Amino acid sequence: MRRGSCERELAARWEAEAVAAARRETEARALAALGQVSVDAGAAGEPERKEGEEEAKARAPARPRAAEEGDARVSPSKPKPAPALTPTPTRGLCQQGKPRGKGRGWKRSSGRRADDGGWQRVVTVDSSKAKTSLEALKISIRQLRWKEFPFGRRLPCDIYWHGVSFHDNDIFSGQVNKFPGMTEMVRKITLSRAVRIMQTLFPEEYNFYPRSWILPEELQLFTAQVQVVKEGDPSWKPTFIVKPDGGCQGDGIYLIKDPSDIRLTGTLQSRPAVVQEYICKPLLIDKLKFDIRLYVLLKSLDPLEIYIAKDGLSRFCTEPYQEPNSQNMHHVFMHLTNYSLNIHSNNFIHSDSANTGSKRTFSSILYRLSSKGVDIKKVWSDIISLVIKTVIALTPELKVFYHLDIPTGRPGPTCFQILGFDILLMKNLKPMLLEVNANPSMRIEHEHELSPGVFENVPSLVDEEVKVAVIRDTLRLMDPLKKKRETHFSDAFMDRKYRILPVSDRISAVKLKFLKLSVVRSQQLGKTVARKEDVDSKNAAGANSSPEAHLPSICLKQVFPKYAKQFNYLRLVDRMANLFIRFLGIKGTMKLGPTGFRTFIRNCKLSSSSLSMAAVDILYIDITRRWNSVTLDQRESGMCLQAFVEAFFFLAQRKFKMMPLHEQVASLIDLCEYHLSLLDEKRLLCSGVGRRGTAPDHSLPQETVPTAQSTGTIVGASKLSYSKPALS
Ligand code: ADP
Repeated sequence: MRRGSCERELAARWEAEAVAAARRETEARALAALGQVSVDAGAAGEPERKEGEEEAKARAPARPRAAEEGDARVSPSKPKPAPALTPTPTRGLCQQGKPRGKGRGWKRSSGRRADDGGWQRVVTVDSSKAKTSLEALKISIRQLRWKEFPFGRRLPCDIYWHGVSFHDNDIFSGQVNKFPGMTEMVRKITLSRAVRIMQTLFPEEYNFYPRSWILPEELQLFTAQVQVVKEGDPSWKPTFIVKPDGGCQGDGIYLIKDPSDIRLTGTLQSRPAVVQEYICKPLLIDKLKFDIRLYVLLKSLDPLEIYIAKDGLSRFCTEPYQEPNSQNMHHVFMHLTNYSLNIHSNNFIHSDSANTGSKRTFSSILYRLSSKGVDIKKVWSDIISLVIKTVIALTPELKVFYHLDIPTGRPGPTCFQILGFDILLMKNLKPMLLEVNANPSMRIEHEHELSPGVFENVPSLVDEEVKVAVIRDTLRLMDPLKKKRETHFSDAFMDRKYRILPVSDRISAVKLKFLKLSVVRSQQLGKTVARKEDVDSKNAAGANSSPEAHLPSICLKQVFPKYAKQFNYLRLVDRMANLFIRFLGIKGTMKLGPTGFRTFIRNCKLSSSSLSMAAVDILYIDITRRWNSVTLDQRESGMCLQAFVEAFFFLAQRKFKMMPLHEQVASLIDLCEYHLSLLDEKRLLCSGVGRRGTAPDHSLPQETVPTAQSTGTIVGASKLSYSKPALS
């Protein structure tokens, strides 16, 4: 009897202990999964900090940098002794037997033991090259409770934040906030060329960019075209704006009334420019001209993913606007909205309010417009459409740059980039694209002149409000651990729910799990990228215990692939770029050689009795020579993408007569893709038989390779009647 009761007691104690242990474990798992563990702001391996301390630390000046763990430039300080609460050895140790937390972006989780034995991985950001975006970046990293490496790090970081270009650092992994080639792509001439190709194909869709000519090469064309219109309509009194290529902050810009006013003396040859129709009737607020700076995140190039920040900035002129005339044409404070210029005006108003002053939030403008009865939804949707179309114009050549730096199959980082879109609203509310900035200013302070020539930096609340949100939410979208965490969270959530449900309800839980699995599967199939965004945000919203629970809702709105259906038909040049890249080979070049071009013609079965290979060679030489004489980059010989596009237009016009150009081009692309897919299938079969499943190397030109001499002899062959298709 006694023995029996003793056993019962013991059994009851064991049971109670087991239940308590199970509860502890469940709680710890759920908490870890729910992200309720608070993360300290210090380096991995430091003792825990309380929230107040953490905030104080965030406000305090940056820690002495030499002591930063993992600092690439200074010898790291001695590792600190293991913290009091040591993780369970087996779980807390990495393969080498060292605590995971040491310098690897692992942080101590608070009080409770998480699944990983008390260590939680945090995202690491190398900010050593952030330049003027550093302040906003630091605030963002603190808000996210991530780990910053201000001097870089010997070990790889998750994210590299560059202030200028992709090439600021040599990086082989992680994610970089710049695409190779973006700076070149958004220069005024390159952007004008890229948009012009799209205007040739889709003139209606691309009428948001003012008519532009490239100087000096199109000076004669510009003069002639203006002359023709003036003769047809003598009342036409246009104004043009001349903008030096690669210029910024209004540098070197001036207005003209006649082509003969272009300042040819000196710099035009050495500093090419774009001359553009001046938008004479902008929308005015308080009688002032203003433009909009919108932040756009190019999250991925392939597949294309674009986000737009819900708020931007409006920069105001400081002198009341009048349509240009010979008296006011040189008044920069009246015609140019650049902040860097207007800040020097006595009329410039610094304001910490978002809806007054010379720099305001775009949302404050929309609010004002809507109070006057303007359909601001339409304004927004026109802006979104402008942004998507512009990115579609830029991506083809960007892909060529990307391929050069990070060829398919080679190790390298992935890229994302915040772009600054400068947009002018016309009086009729139509948005017009002025330019795209690859390095939009992310400064959150402005210079205040204390006395003549003496400046101090003063925080700018309007800038901070907009720019910190853009950087922080870009990082949130790029968070490499997010996917992992969410899967983990939803698994733990399911497990916990499943365990506490009565048996009868478990069946529906199984159904729920099945549902989740099928969502995951369809995501894997890439079918629900846009829907996934909704699921993600609902998950985040539903779980106030998510690690992002303390943050405001994300300020970046996905617009592509969300609206892909409406815009995919415009992506013809993108498909041409895919063909171009395929025939570039793997040599690390951006230009197609004669062999590559011939291979393209042969593989796509484009030669015929009416288009001999000799004629193909002449086409290649003719177009390539002309493009090489006008493009800035003369280092490499060969056919650039624009030249390839021109040749493609020519071939399409020959093959598919009596159709609009975009249909001719689309038909030719379809044809090429069809022949190439047949070829791929054939090769796959052959290589499967011959090399037991080794995939063919698509990046190499596959056809017979004519020698340089053979091309040389063809040059003298009968002249092909080739006329340049109009690109304007
Ligand atoms: P930058 O890179 O030097 O700032 P932009 O192209 O942005 O050059 O032009 C500077 C400013 O000139 C713009 O902010 C805008 O106010 C004005 N501007 C530029 N292009 C036009 C145009 N086509 N019509 C009217 N104003 C223009």
